Amino acid sequence: MKKTDLILIFVVLVIFVSLAILFNHKKGGDVATVTHNGTIVDTIDLSKDGNYRYEFEEGYNIVLVDDGKVRVIESNCTNQNCVNQGFVENTNDAIICLPHKFCVTVKSNDVTYDAVTN
Ligand SMILES: [Zn+2]
Repeated sequence: MKKTDLILIFVVLVIFVSLAILFNHKKGGDVATVTHNGTIVDTIDLSKDGNYRYEFEEGYNIVLVDDGKVRVIESNCTNQNCVNQGFVENTNDAIICLPHKFCVTVKSNDVTYDAVTN
């Protein structure tokens, strides 16, 4: 086998692995809907890392998006359940902060996938 063949095989392998990772990400959520008191206040794109701060009369929640996952990193709520819950990434996973009536739910843009899993 020639050296160039090996390089080609390696390159193809890398592309396949990258595609597999991308595809896996698709199986997780695409967006996270943020609701307060049952009303959608924001929709977060999970493909973009970032911090999001939400303030309500009950208090505040800071949401972190990292590598397609989402979590509440800070809140001034009484029980801190939302912070302790950590990262969620799968479709229909939700972080709920009862004291603030605050909820972050992972959603998929892929309707077919939702139909299969539900
Ligand atoms: Zn909370």
